[in-house]
Amino acid sequence: MTQNEFSSVAPPASPADEASTFRSWLEDRRDDLAELRVLHVEADDRVDLLRRLQKTLHEAGWATLGWPESVGGRGGNILHRAAIYEELALAGYPPRFVYEHLEVLLPSLVKYGHPDLMAELLPRMLRGDETWSQGFSEPGAGSDLASLRTRATRDGDHWVLNGHKIWTSWSKWAKWCLLIARTGTPESRHRGLTMFVVDLEAPGVTLTPINQSNGSPELAEIFFENVTVPANALVGEVDGGWEVAMYLLSCERGSYAWQRNTYIAQRLAEFAPKVVEPSDIERLGNSVADVFAMRSRSWSTMVELAADGRPGPQSAVNKAMLGDAEQYLFETADRAHPSGYMWAPTAREEVMQEELIFTHAIPIWGGTRQIQNITIFRQLISGQNSTPTDEYLDAALAAMTDPAGANSGLETLGFADVVADLDDLDNRRAVSAVFQAAGRSGEHTSALATLLSSVLGEGVTLALATENLGGQSTRVIVDAAATGASTIVLDSADGWIAVDAEAVSWLDDVQFLSKDRLVAGVADTSAAISFDAETVERATALGRWALACETLGAVDAMFEAAAQHTADREQFGAPLNSFQAVQFMLAEAHIARTSLREVCDTASRTLAPVPTTLAKLIAGRVGRRVGKETLQALGAIGFTEEHPHHGWYHRALTIDAVLGRSVELARHVGADLVRTGVVPVGVEIADLPGHQAASSAARSR
Ligand SMILES: Cc1cc2nc3c(=O)[nH]c(=O)nc-3n(C[C@H](O)[C@H](O)[C@H](O)COP(=O)(O)OP(=O)(O)OC[C@H]3O[C@@H](n4cnc5c(N)ncnc54)[C@H](O)[C@@H]3O)c2cc1C
Repeated sequence: MTQNEFSSVAPPASPADEASTFRSWLEDRRDDLAELRVLHVEADDRVDLLRRLQKTLHEAGWATLGWPESVGGRGGNILHRAAIYEELALAGYPPRFVYEHLEVLLPSLVKYGHPDLMAELLPRMLRGDETWSQGFSEPGAGSDLASLRTRATRDGDHWVLNGHKIWTSWSKWAKWCLLIARTGTPESRHRGLTMFVVDLEAPGVTLTPINQSNGSPELAEIFFENVTVPANALVGEVDGGWEVAMYLLSCERGSYAWQRNTYIAQRLAEFAPKVVEPSDIERLGNSVADVFAMRSRSWSTMVELAADGRPGPQSAVNKAMLGDAEQYLFETADRAHPSGYMWAPTAREEVMQEELIFTHAIPIWGGTRQIQNITIFRQLISGQNSTPTDEYLDAALAAMTDPAGANSGLETLGFADVVADLDDLDNRRAVSAVFQAAGRSGEHTSALATLLSSVLGEGVTLALATENLGGQSTRVIVDAAATGASTIVLDSADGWIAVDAEAVSWLDDVQFLSKDRLVAGVADTSAAISFDAETVERATALGRWALACETLGAVDAMFEAAAQHTADREQFGAPLNSFQAVQFMLAEAHIARTSLREVCDTASRTLAPVPTTLAKLIAGRVGRRVGKETLQALGAIGFTEEHPHHGWYHRALTIDAVLGRSVELARHVGADLVRTGVVPVGVEIADLPGHQAASSAARSR
């Protein structure tokens, strides 16, 4: 199909349909485009290859999908672009490095640039004829960007630029630079900055490449000496450059994370089948969970962007999650490689080495991790109700804390009826809220037993027992709250062992049972209860999801308590949360709990085995992480029974031991990845509003 054919077909189809057409298009040309899938190491070769890839996509109309017609696009929105990035990654194409600027710069240029100039320049960018760079940092202005000194002075109908930019990516190959310069007084800070489009081939521009520590000469410093910039090259208002910069940076931290995540998921699928060491297999499982959580988070951002076009401060959370996920993933690859990638003998492995080293740049470019944490603290935590209000959660919490007891609260909520119809999304949300409320309130409920009984059969109330320590120990833990159960199910390495509770007369007041005695109960055929594999799978999935949601409740409660405490308590004459070390603890806890919230939401979409398992895995990790950070933020009071923190933390740790500990689940997930080479995705392009919810089955080509 040619571009002309596309331009006669407007508007574009849905992202899912476009993705499907694009997939077929790529498949039909798989052999013809083989050389575009090679990752050359030499930067010049790489740029050349990426240009050709961009041109090829443009000629076929794919590079213009998702961009407005005013700049040569075919229409559609960011979700169309998301679909294209995903299909390219799945088909083995490299990330479009130089064209990452499409997602970083182009949205700001479309929004703030002079329409005539953009109509002239941006089609060239989309066509692959010209590339761009971003000129923000200076030798004296890194994290403190507002102190920059490169100056633009008005001179009749144009501007004159003098100064020095550094760390500009891909400038060596770029024709244009989106540059921020001072137009106000030296003291005007962010109020006196203006954004310009600068021609890097103009007289007075000198560029010196800088080699990165991974060997690639991607960075450059640029000197500007009396460079003439035309008046229509202004982007946004005079002295309004800060607004443009903030918008641009949130795009850089937001939608870029989606692009990158689709790519690293493929890298994970590529190296995983060669991993053999058990500890590395466990790391693989954790990496799958990271990528899954990252995908859920960045997908939410993409949907927000498509709806209102303004990425919020949450994009700082995306950037942090991406950095953590990517560093852990490439470190796992390095550990699992027989010699480590520093000895990489093949070109492919050299690329891996370069990527491994590049992961250290992620917490630096686009604003460092520390600066992101400050943003997260100031904009998402400080002085705000940092947990979104939710009508279901409010109702469930009120019911849970009813003096008559949590179980009567469940009746008030009509919990059993809600559980009976989990095909209904609202009911799933309500169930999730009930478990979150249980985690927050610290009340023991029969909610888990009711939920699982809906699968296991009428009248079966359940006590879940979990074999301790990876199946090695004979100790079995039973939730004491469920001692009225009619059935005890041991979730063991051998699968589910179920026994009639009547056969275990000593159940009343014990928490720790002997596995042998349970197994003996099962050996008595009258006490044995059998469930088919499908039922066990469904019940396990529901249970894991519910427990992940319960952990989320406990995690939110710990977080809010710590946020409140650090706002109220003073030391050294100031509130605790005025100290950066405390802000960072809260920011790190917030990043972790966001990942759990996202995966719980994603698991709620389908309640399928893989997403629910990953939600439970992440719940175990996040419960520990947030528990530790928030205890530290509370100080000694957090280490007492006087403060409710201990109850929430204990709960999170206890839940981890039921229906699969996070370490065990990580091993299982890692082993599945080694066997199948498939990274589960959770949210699919087809999950967009207006589309049939797709199955959560993993996809890989
Ligand atoms: C690979 C790569 C690509 C890049 N691409 C571009 C580009 O295309 N265009 C561009 O303009 N820039 C680019 N940059 C530059 C990047 O934006 C800056 O490096 C970044 O903003 C940090 O500035 P700095 O390096 O001067 O570090 P500094 O600001 O000097 O910080 C050094 C350390 O101190 C910490 N720190 C600083 N201030 C505080 C504070 N108030 N509180 C706590 N800790 C603090 C930082 O977190 C960091 O750990 C790139 C950087 C890299 C590594």
